This record gives sequence, structure tokens and C-alpha cells, in this order.
Amino acid sequence: MNEFINFIVENPSIFLHTITASFIYINALLYSRIFAAKAMIMKTNNPQRIKKVIIPKELKQEPVPKRLELTHAKMVLEFIKTVRENMPASYLNNMFHNLKTLELNDNFGIALLGADGKYTPERNRIRLANKKSIYHELFHMASRSATDTRCNGLSQLIDGTWLGNGIDEGYTELLTRRYFKDKKRKPNQKEKTDSYDYQVNVCRKLEKIIGQDKMTEYYMTANFKGFIDELGKYSTEEELFRFIHSLDSITYLCNEISTFKLKTIERSIKYTTNFLIRTYFKKLKQDQIEGKITEAEAYSMFSSFIESFDKKINIAFHNYQLLRENDIFEIMSEINDENAIKR
Ligand SMILES: [Zn+2]
Repeated sequence: MNEFINFIVENPSIFLHTITASFIYINALLYSRIFAAKAMIMKTNNPQRIKKVIIPKELKQEPVPKRLELTHAKMVLEFIKTVRENMPASYLNNMFHNLKTLELNDNFGIALLGADGKYTPERNRIRLANKKSIYHELFHMASRSATDTRCNGLSQLIDGTWLGNGIDEGYTELLTRRYFKDKKRKPNQKEKTDSYDYQVNVCRKLEKIIGQDKMTEYYMTANFKGFIDELGKYSTEEELFRFIHSLDSITYLCNEISTFKLKTIERSIKYTTNFLIRTYFKKLKQDQIEGKITEAEAYSMFSSFIESFDKKINIAFHNYQLLRENDIFEIMSEINDENAIKR
């Protein structure tokens, strides 16, 4: 695979004569960038380097910057209150640091780009076209590293590309739903289909593997490296980066207008599902070896995990098959090859 990428990168003209090929090229370029980025991630984003931020007095009493307009200020207050009630103070250093300089404006221009809201980490600025998206954007702000603006939640800016963008958007939206949207929903009301639905579902499964607390901590402290190390306990480096890349591709491509994207999205979905199932299986096996769960518990947890996948999903108005009988069979035989299941 790497040789293939190198070949395309070195000989782009051969491939650029059709749209399909240029599409493959862009995708391969993203892929090779991610591989080049690996070494960098390992070095940067060490949470130890982030100094503890002292919460300014005025934020402790009236925790909203005075310059914000009233409707925004009320929502920011609600955000801070909710996050404080639900997360330990040690997760909130970035948030309190960033609040001091946060810029927050209504900006209907971004709606033309198809966005309800946008957060720019370099400027610590939120622009809103729709007030409802404020909590999602505030989570981006709260999870931006106080010391390095290239680290944001579960993503990192490397060579102009946000590596981990798919996971970061998914987890930002998951927390927004958990603490703000779900609360307002009536018990029988179904979750509305919304942006990043697929990424949210992937993140729910990642929480099962990593644990909700740890995942929230990695996100809020912008510790992408910690997140990678944790998942790396149950997968090889190559599998892990292919997974991150798959979700990034889906997130990037669903906004593109191209019929060629469908195949790439389909392939990425297949890889993502395969990765989640195999990784969860390894995690359960590990827990069983360490005596945290019994064999029977591992089996029942594994089958509920499989059952929790929808059959079909909709991404950008197109339906994709998520998990076919065949896929399960394929994944199980892969696992079996690696590791005979004890009966
Ligand atoms: Zn977002």
C-alpha cells in the first residue's frame, strides 16, 4: 500500500487525466500525510507540558467575559455551569484559559458555506449563523489546548491537515447531545438525525473500548497522544491510523459534491466497522485475562456490541449498508485466525 502511495505521489501526472484518478490522488495524499505525521504526534501534545491554568477571580464569581452580548452570555454561562457539574475540575483548565480571550459573534455569512457555526482555534473565535450550534462550538473552545492551538480536542493540525478531525467532530457532537440536546428531548422522542450522526455513533463505540471518563479527559485536555496510546493497546499502529484516516475521509468527503466519493465512503465505513469490532474484541479478551470480567460476560458484552450497529446509515443524503451478515462472518474469521476463540 505504501509503495502504491509513493508511486502516485511521485507520478501525479499519470493519474491526473481523469477525475476518478485525481480523486484517488487526493485521498492517497491525505493518507501519506497521515503516515508522515505519525512521528510528530508522538513528540508533541504532551499534557505534562501544559501548565496548570489559574482560574481568574472574576471567572469564579461571574464566569462570563463581560464583553459578550447578553443572549450569548446566558448560553455561555449555562455551558460553564453544566460542564462544571459533570466533569472534574482537572479537565477544565483549557476551558477557563480560553474563556478569557474568547471572541463570539453572530455571522450569517458562514451559513453560505453550509455551516451553522464555526470555531477557529488559532483566533479562539466562534462565529454563529444559528444560535443552537453554540454548545457544539463551545465544546471546541473548551477542548482547545491552552498552550498549543494546533491541538484541539481529539485532533491535531499537522502540515495544514487536521488529523483526527472525524473523531473530534464526533465527540464534540456526542458531548453536546449528552449534556444539552438529550436533556431537552422527551423520553419517547427519537434522536433527531443531524450532522455528524455517523461520527457520533463511532465515538459511542470508542467510549465502550476506552471508557467514557478517559475519553472525556483526553478530549477536554486536548491529549490526542493519550487517546492514541490508549487505543494502541488493542491495535497495531497501522490499523489505528487507517481507522483515523477512514473517519477523516468520511467527514471530509461528505461535504464534497462528487459521485466518486461514494465508493471511498463505503470503503471507509467498512474499515471503521471492522476496526471497532476487532478492537473491542481484543479489549474484552484483555479484561478477561486480567480477571476484570468473566468469559460469559465477555461474550454477552461482545454480542450486544455487534447488535448495537445499525444495518443502514445515512451520510449526506445517501444510504450505506453498515454491517452485513457477510461482514460479520469476515471479521469473525479474521479474529479467529489471529486468536482462536475459547469455547
Ligand atoms: Zn464542529
